[in-house]
Amino acid sequence: MALKSFIDVPSDSHFPIQNLPYGVFSVGAGSARVGTRIGDYVLDLARLETDGYLPHAHPVFSCDSLNPFMELGRDAWRTVRDRLQRLLAADNATLRDNTSLRASTMIPVQNVTMHLPVRIGDYTDFYSSREHATNMGTMFRGKENALMPNWVYIPVAYHGRASSVVVSGTDIHRPRGQIKPDDGAPILAASKVMDFELEMGYFVGAGNELGTPIPVDRAADHFFGMVLVNDWSARDIQKWEYQPLGPFLAKNLATSVSPWVVTLEALEPFRCASPLQDPPVLPYLEHAQEQAYDIDLEVLIQSAAMTEPFPISRSNFRYMYWTIAQQLAHHTITGCNMRHGDLLASGTLSGPTPETYGSMLELTWRGERPIELPSGETRKFIQDGDRVTVTGWASNEDFTVGFGEVTGRILPCL
Ligand code: CA
Repeated sequence: MALKSFIDVPSDSHFPIQNLPYGVFSVGAGSARVGTRIGDYVLDLARLETDGYLPHAHPVFSCDSLNPFMELGRDAWRTVRDRLQRLLAADNATLRDNTSLRASTMIPVQNVTMHLPVRIGDYTDFYSSREHATNMGTMFRGKENALMPNWVYIPVAYHGRASSVVVSGTDIHRPRGQIKPDDGAPILAASKVMDFELEMGYFVGAGNELGTPIPVDRAADHFFGMVLVNDWSARDIQKWEYQPLGPFLAKNLATSVSPWVVTLEALEPFRCASPLQDPPVLPYLEHAQEQAYDIDLEVLIQSAAMTEPFPISRSNFRYMYWTIAQQLAHHTITGCNMRHGDLLASGTLSGPTPETYGSMLELTWRGERPIELPSGETRKFIQDGDRVTVTGWASNEDFTVGFGEVTGRILPCL
């Protein structure tokens, strides 16, 4: 029998009592503070903490980021989650029967503004879907050299830009950059080949000391939780700049994240096996346990002429070849120190079949197979006025743990 709340949570909600993600919200001109989400309500954790309903020695929720809470580590995260599940349980009268406490702590979700949940120090973007890496390699270098020889040994990544990570709902202006036409010298122009990348991101909560790697089997203790990520990408800028050091300005224009950070505890029931790794990985990347997560993902697009979003891709987080534990173990094997608030992203999560591809570049195969929209329009890449939305959820027979969505619109170049 699944745990139930006294709050009426719609059966298709992403936010039952089994989820309880963390986010940063404000109401009107009020200050930003930490809350959790249950059904269609935001529960004000700053207020609950001030009133003595939450268990720690010093306050961590009356601030505009999750960092102070994340820094406390896994035991504190578990304690707060247990307390919240008890407070919200159907058989607990503390909040259920206290009308004034409910009125002061439970806010209808349509009345809040969500903010970037975490103060992000560093952002690293991996490249961990074998299908995506193969598709990109095939398009950029040809089928024979599609997958680089190091790819099956190293969780490949680049150091991204933390300052331009934005919360869902932030519109993005088409970037300008240096582009090389096929038949001439490079020019400075608005990107003509804007794309999204379907990814997931995971925040480091507890860091490590410089010089002390995080072992692969301890990695899960360091991750606080996950979000949906859209890594906006300007493919024409990328094509001219990416060799020899990888992406730079093609990726720093903006990266969008969903506002609710879903904890690894909430995702625990959805752990599953990762793809078979062949050749075998080096010992420092070997897991004792299953470390992948079965999370369904969907990308939808809505042009200015459309009245509702249209699904164009359906993928899953479990397609990722390198797990989040392997990524973190590899990232720190040199002794590189991670800090609370650091963001790691998966890289584009393309699956094995064309409808599971996680970018326009792959879905339309470089624009050769345009997508037809219900409005009669076609798309090779993202046009001005287009809205891209990513949603994701994990389900079993009893409940769904979802991420809500990350959405953003491309506006004309300034
Ligand atoms: Ca990416």
